[in-house]
Amino acid sequence: MTRKVLVVGGGIAGMCTAIELRKRGTHVDLVEIDPDWRVYGAGITLSGATLRALTEIGIIDDIMKHGWCADGLDILAADGTKISEIPTPRLVASRPDVPGGGGIMRPVLARILREHTLRSGAAVRCGTTFSSIEQDAEGVEVRFTDGRQERYDLVVGADGLMSKVRDLVFPDAPKPVYTGQGSWRAVVPRPVHITHATMCVGRLVKAGVNPVSKDEMYLYVTERRETAEFIDESKWADTLRGVLQEFGGLIGEIRDGLGAHSRILYRPFFAVLQPRPWHHGRVVMLGDAAHATTPHLASGAGIGVEDAIVLAQELGKAADIELALQSFTERRYERCRMVVENSIALGEMERVQAPKEEHQALMRQSLGALMTPI
Ligand SMILES: Cc1cc2nc3c(=O)[nH]c(=O)nc-3n(C[C@H](O)[C@H](O)[C@H](O)COP(=O)(O)OP(=O)(O)OC[C@H]3O[C@@H](n4cnc5c(N)ncnc54)[C@H](O)[C@@H]3O)c2cc1C
Repeated sequence: MTRKVLVVGGGIAGMCTAIELRKRGTHVDLVEIDPDWRVYGAGITLSGATLRALTEIGIIDDIMKHGWCADGLDILAADGTKISEIPTPRLVASRPDVPGGGGIMRPVLARILREHTLRSGAAVRCGTTFSSIEQDAEGVEVRFTDGRQERYDLVVGADGLMSKVRDLVFPDAPKPVYTGQGSWRAVVPRPVHITHATMCVGRLVKAGVNPVSKDEMYLYVTERRETAEFIDESKWADTLRGVLQEFGGLIGEIRDGLGAHSRILYRPFFAVLQPRPWHHGRVVMLGDAAHATTPHLASGAGIGVEDAIVLAQELGKAADIELALQSFTERRYERCRMVVENSIALGEMERVQAPKEEHQALMRQSLGALMTPI
C-alpha cells in the first residue's frame, strides 16, 4: 500500500503526479527547488493525446478557457504556400467538444496546474529539495535542505532534464546530449486567419506558429547549430531575423515585425532516455527526468502527464510497490522511447536537409502512434 509519497519537482509532470495520487487519497509532499515556483517560456503545443491526458487530470475546461484549442495542422512551404495538412483527430471520447490540438502560454498552464495541485491537498514546499535519500525494504528516509526529515513509501523524481534524483539513484545513467539544433520562440499577435497550428518548412530552417489565446500565438523555429553555445540576449532579435531570412508569407511578416519588444527566447536542444528500469527500490523517475525529448513532436510535456496518470493507476492496482513500478515502466517505456528517438531523428533530418517527404512521413507515423490509448 502506498500511503505517503514525496514528489521531487513541481513542473508539469510533478504537479500532475501529485494531483493524480491525491485523487486516490495518497498523502503527497511536493518539494520544488525554486522558492518562487516560476516558469519561463513562451507557448507550448498540446497535441490531441496531451489534451486527452489533461482531460483525465481534470483541467481541460481551464485549458480551453485560458489557452486556444483547435483542429488541424497545416504544412506550408517557405513562401507561405500550403503543401499539405496533417489531421489531428479528436481523442477524448467522453468530451467530443475537445479539439485535436491546442496551445497555451507556459506560465498560464503552470498557474492552472499549481491551483489544482494546491486544491488537491498536496503539501507543497518551495525553495526546498532533498539533501539525502536512503531506502530500506519498508520505506525511504529523506532529509531536506530545510532541515526536515521524513519517511515515505515512495519517492518520485520529477525534477527534469538535469535530474538530481537520477544522478543519485542511477549514477551511471546516460547524460543529456546536445542534438545539434537550437530553438527560437517568440510571442506575437495572432492574425485572425491563423486559427490552428501551422508549420513552415524552409530549406535550412523549420518555423511554425500556434495560437495560445484569442490575441496571441507563439512562433517556434528550429535551426542547425553545431554547438550548444550561449547566444547573448541583446542579439536575439537580430539573430532570429537573420535565421528567418529564407521565409516569405506568414513567417516573413512575423520576422519583419520582430524587435526589442518581442518576447524572444533561445534554447539549445538536449535529449536523454533512461534505459529500463526507471525505478530502483522505492524511488522512481518520470517526465523529463526519465525521458527528455526535443520538441519535434511537441509531446515531451504530454508524455510526462501520461506518466503521472499511469503511475497512479499502477500504484492503485498493485498491493506491491515493486510490481506497480515494474508495470509502470512496462506501460510507458516504448511510447516514450518512440517520442525521444523519433524526435531526435526528425531533428537530424532537418539538420542534413533530408527529403521533406521523409520528414513528414515520420511525423505522421509518430503522431499516429501517439493517438493510441495509454
Ligand atoms: C524548446 C522546447 C520546446 C518544447 N515544446 C513542447 C511542446 O510544444 N509540447 C510539449 O508537450 N512539450 C514540449 N517540450 C517539452 C516539455 O517542455 C518538457 O517535456 C516538460 O516541461 C517536462 O516537464 P517535467 O515536469 O518533467 O520537467 P520540468 O519542466 O523541467 O520541471 C522540473 C521541475 O523540477 C524542479 N527541480 C529541478 N531540480 C530540482 C530539485 N533538485 N529539487 C526539487 N525541484 C527541482 C524545477 O525547478 C522544475 O520546476 C519542449 C521542450 C523544449 C526544450
